[in-house]
Amino acid sequence: MNKLNRFIKVQKDKLTTDQHSNVVYKISCADCDASYVGQTRRLLLTRIKEHRSHISRNTLQKSVITNHRLTGHEFKWEEVEVLDREPILNKRLTSEMIFIKRQKNSLNMQSDTDNLNAAYIPLLENFSTI
Ligand SMILES: [Zn+2]
Repeated sequence: MNKLNRFIKVQKDKLTTDQHSNVVYKISCADCDASYVGQTRRLLLTRIKEHRSHISRNTLQKSVITNHRLTGHEFKWEEVEVLDREPILNKRLTSEMIFIKRQKNSLNMQSDTDNLNAAYIPLLENFSTI
């Protein structure tokens, strides 16, 4: 349980932290309440540029963001939020999945959270949405 405490806090860092790596981040739509949560071990700014220019090794993630932009909506590229910093991959992936589940209107694929341990699911109800 104590390990979960850090997920309750949502850091509102702006993209001035774009030199950071090993982060969980959220990109929000400027035109509705939809958002996308991802993680990267690389520089956040590099990953955001890829999202923005439709470049990704993961074609599923690419289509999620691109498809939403094709509806006429645009993302707040300059206001990407760093939700967590975690250098250990498995911990970062778990953090990412929890934040994906906490979104009000998630653009993430259902399969993005397939690996979330079922034990976390009931606990998520105690967390506020992001
Ligand atoms: Zn939107």
